[in-house]
Amino acid sequence: MPSGPADQNLVRQLNSALILDHLLVNAPQSRANLAQQTGLNRSTISSLVSDLIVRGLIREMGLEAADSRGRPGMLLELNPGGGCIVGIEINFGYVSIILTDFTARILWQRLVEVDPGTPQAAVLTLAGELIEAAQQVGQAHALPPLGIGLGVPGLVDTQSGTLRYAPILNWHDVSFREVWGQRFGVPVIIENDGNASALSEHYFGVAKGNNNFIYLSTGIGLSGGLMLNGQLYRGAGGYAGEVGHIIVESGGELCSCGRRGCWETLVGPRAVLRGVTHALNNGAPSLIPKLIGHDLSKLDMKVVVQAANQGDQLALHTLADVALHLGTGIANLINLFNPELVVLGGSLAVAGDYLLPTISNIITSEALSAPTQMVALALSAQGTYACVKGAVALVVDGIVREPISC
Ligand SMILES: [Zn+2]
Repeated sequence: MPSGPADQNLVRQLNSALILDHLLVNAPQSRANLAQQTGLNRSTISSLVSDLIVRGLIREMGLEAADSRGRPGMLLELNPGGGCIVGIEINFGYVSIILTDFTARILWQRLVEVDPGTPQAAVLTLAGELIEAAQQVGQAHALPPLGIGLGVPGLVDTQSGTLRYAPILNWHDVSFREVWGQRFGVPVIIENDGNASALSEHYFGVAKGNNNFIYLSTGIGLSGGLMLNGQLYRGAGGYAGEVGHIIVESGGELCSCGRRGCWETLVGPRAVLRGVTHALNNGAPSLIPKLIGHDLSKLDMKVVVQAANQGDQLALHTLADVALHLGTGIANLINLFNPELVVLGGSLAVAGDYLLPTISNIITSEALSAPTQMVALALSAQGTYACVKGAVALVVDGIVREPISC
């Protein structure tokens, strides 16, 4: 048992983080409920809550409804005025940014489309200007800046805060934490887009409170995030969760990573659009050409789903094929990780009604029965906000999990 003053301080900091974590997922809560849920005694809770109120991180919001057991308790929640957080996503074709209060409520947002051929330096200049604009909005709200969270599509060294390699952007070794930390004077936390989105689902989305789930999302490629035992699983170097590059077809289609036969070449939007384009070029009957004014550059997942909604056979067959390949991959992940939930995001969520029944059937036939009986499938409801809200969640997560000085 810790006994010295330094150890006691650490325990106090960890317990403060525990209270913030509970309020983030389950607010509002009374002190009595917090004691019950955290296992800490009432006097410890009272003392820590008083400290957190003084520091402006939580606030009292009124009495709970009285019940037969006694006096009603004062309800507590995170204090929106605790500070502001910048969440930013740099991805293929766009930069998206939001500014939120400490409860992750969006105060300001911008989404700037970027020509995919734009040089890296110009994109970084744009991102820096957007962060400055966000910080000015935070100042106008009189909210102290708590940090910047960044989601990027690639391999991230989370220890050093460096993007090692983003195949879709063709960027190498960008030291975001060092450069932005010096420039903006706040903590900078950087994470792979799949991991950031998974964290967003854990705190704000369909996986709220779930401690063992897998997040899968398609934008340009297939990204993933693993939440295991209540924490993002990052692996030894922070590179874990690259599910899109599991090889499922030796010598298959060329992937953005330079190898062949990755899972994303069969289930990502590029696979869908390639399949549809190939069929149309071979004269397959379909409503799709009419929906896009015979301009193949306008073909995207939404159009395919729109055609499927109208009973278009080409669209339905294409989505059925994606669902088969998704189902097999998910069955393997279920056998490996025994999740309680699998969340489909990005354009997978858009096409969810067509994908889920087949995926569910494939899982039942291909995964082991014990873990299959425990797993649910869900569609993300966060739309285009999954990654930027996840970037905000990175900062909040850092505050509620790391020991903070009292
Ligand atoms: Zn690949």
